[in-house]
Amino acid sequence: MYVKVIIEIGVKAVDKEYVYKVPTAFLDKIKVGVRVKVNFGTQLLEGFITEIINNYEGNILVRDILEVVDDTPILNEEMFKLADYLVNKTLCSKISAFQVMLPKALKAKNKTNMHKKFNKYIVLNSDINQVNDYIASCKYNSQKEILNKLLNEKKVLITSLSSGIKTLEKKGLIKIIEEEVYRYNIIKDNDFKKVSLNSDQERVVEKIISNLNISKTFLLYGITGSGKTEVYLEVIDNVLKEGKNAIMLVPEISLTPQIVQRFVNRFGNNIAILHSGLSDSEKYDEYRKIKEGLVKIVIGARSAIFAPFDNIGAIIIDEEHTPTYKQDETSPRYDAKDVAIWRSKYHKCPLILGSATPSLESFARAGNHVFELLTLTRRPAGSVLPQVHIVDMKEEVKRGNFVFSKLMTDKINEKLGKNEQIILLLNRRGYSSMITCSDCGYVEKCPKCDISLTYHKTSNTLRCHYCGFYKKKTDKCSSCGSSNIKDYGMGTQKLEEELKQKFPSANIIRMDMDTTSKKGAHEQIIKDFGRHKYDILVGTQMIAKGLDFPNVSLVGVLNADMSLTIPDFRSAERTFQLLSQVSGRAGRGDIQGEVIIQTYNNNHYSIVFAKNHDYLSFYKEEMKIRKSLSYPPYYYITLVNISCKDYELGFAHADKIGKYLRDNLEKTTIILGPTMANMFKINNVFHYQCIIKYQRDNKLSKVLKEIDDIYKIESKVNVSINVDPTRL
Ligand code: ADP
Ligand code: ZN
Ligand code: ZN
Repeated sequence: MYVKVIIEIGVKAVDKEYVYKVPTAFLDKIKVGVRVKVNFGTQLLEGFITEIINNYEGNILVRDILEVVDDTPILNEEMFKLADYLVNKTLCSKISAFQVMLPKALKAKNKTNMHKKFNKYIVLNSDINQVNDYIASCKYNSQKEILNKLLNEKKVLITSLSSGIKTLEKKGLIKIIEEEVYRYNIIKDNDFKKVSLNSDQERVVEKIISNLNISKTFLLYGITGSGKTEVYLEVIDNVLKEGKNAIMLVPEISLTPQIVQRFVNRFGNNIAILHSGLSDSEKYDEYRKIKEGLVKIVIGARSAIFAPFDNIGAIIIDEEHTPTYKQDETSPRYDAKDVAIWRSKYHKCPLILGSATPSLESFARAGNHVFELLTLTRRPAGSVLPQVHIVDMKEEVKRGNFVFSKLMTDKINEKLGKNEQIILLLNRRGYSSMITCSDCGYVEKCPKCDISLTYHKTSNTLRCHYCGFYKKKTDKCSSCGSSNIKDYGMGTQKLEEELKQKFPSANIIRMDMDTTSKKGAHEQIIKDFGRHKYDILVGTQMIAKGLDFPNVSLVGVLNADMSLTIPDFRSAERTFQLLSQVSGRAGRGDIQGEVIIQTYNNNHYSIVFAKNHDYLSFYKEEMKIRKSLSYPPYYYITLVNISCKDYELGFAHADKIGKYLRDNLEKTTIILGPTMANMFKINNVFHYQCIIKYQRDNKLSKVLKEIDDIYKIESKVNVSINVDPTRL
């Protein structure tokens, strides 16, 4: 017997399947989808068996398989088919498609060995009368204590073997057992009460559950706080009743502990949780819970879409407009939404995309009846959408108000006076964004990247937010030595400092990447703010998502322009989404919420429509622009990124690729570039890009594949292809 084995070789992930011979000792262990160890050249590698061949006719000497790693297959039939889909759709290598579906512990060629963790317990090993007799006659208190405890608790966790335990075990009165521990646990709230759905929610749930055995995509467009999460919970309840499983994706789970809590309250420990904050062994634990059928629900970020359930009854993607559902940085550059649609077809189950601000692509598909639109237009239980004020900062600056407009200051004081809470958003971390010399104009920049360094006051360092480079801040200009240096721009650190000065009685907490790097720090801040330990929460966009604090009556956006000025055709859409999301954090309880947006672009349509909570008008306006500029959803985009350490060589290849695309793609396809990418130099590597815009191009896959094949063997230049990128 022979097998084909796929292995991962080198960074450029060239797909290789090789034939190996199966020694007789392994014959009954060989299955498609198990991992095996093989020699390749001089290396010892792991790979997956992709095919079993009975007769091998080739005349090359084939080597033996050295070891079979798994008893049961890691890859099943669905995963093989899904891998084919990913290869086709994203032009990734097949091995990388397999690897992305698995936790690190199960990837081929994994070096670190993950061990299951076991706890030791003692339990009684004889009948109760015998135990009671022993207690009555025994003169050792420690032994009596152990037995009494066991009579009460049946099973007791032990951390070491005391002499008492050893004696009792020898006498056969107790025995020691081992049980596997799953390392991640959330506990139910005791005071949890289930809400009953209102008629709007019921209508939506009815529609979905009458389609539980059909592959169909619903777009649930519901304003913030309209009760979408309650709808998800109810749908999942119905899925479980059918004996099926559910997957729910959230943008970044460590940012949404409140949602996880609601799921745990409702479904207890029937849930596995997958997210980037878990250690590799925790991820492996969660994966095994799913695979072994110990849980019926998975909640997780992007990669949880690959959860290895074999009987999915519904897939839910919350905040479907979030760009992080697309993996842009590394291959496979897949979109979890596409994978969700694929799996919903495979399992014949509904997919629910939920958002208060659907992506233009999804809303357009709902308009074309590719998706079915469901809407929730009211907030339950009387709470209304907040009133939004726009403040023109051009005017404020004239009055000397650079950071806080008069209205912002007044409202903060007013809310503090009423003992209500405030959330302030500033989408830039660090202290200030730029350090400039007033004498020579020198700007401190990252030596490896093309951007200015951000000053971080707490560590007194200048930091690059792209590559992580940092250096100590000095009081002199690095170029001319002048001590006349100034910092410009405001980050969350500086804002926190200014707030403390201006509102000395308020308790302030900051939430950004710098204050949440420690495990659990994020959850702690949210918990503390929820208990009103703080009056003001200051943070970057991570505070905009999914948080539900009933006592927050004011949300302030310090600088709404930051996301508008990013050079990307989606910047207006992102701005509208961010402002709508963050506004949705205000007035979620009984008190009326207010929102203040400070901006220099007070007439920009994305800001005005966000103020009016008017998604439909925003959608119409933005669609007009997309149409006139041939952007999605009217056109598809594929990005070809060419990167090289050598500036000239990089450009030469980018130019060649641009020409190749123009010569070989269909005439209706638009090719822009090559141009310098927005971030041209990152970590000493230069980036060029070609943008391909098309409605339909039958030659595209073939041409992209040709480019990919050429540059797989070109070592100095790296070419990456990103189909449907989320940003340019
Ligand atoms: P969304 O997910 O759309 O932002 P949520 O499901 O988080 O909305 O609901 C917002 C708030 O309203 C939550 O505090 C939730 O408990 C509450 N809520 C939702 N549905 C109902 C209902 N039918 N009756 C009472 N309260 C509800
Ligand atoms: Zn200088
Ligand atoms: Zn850098």
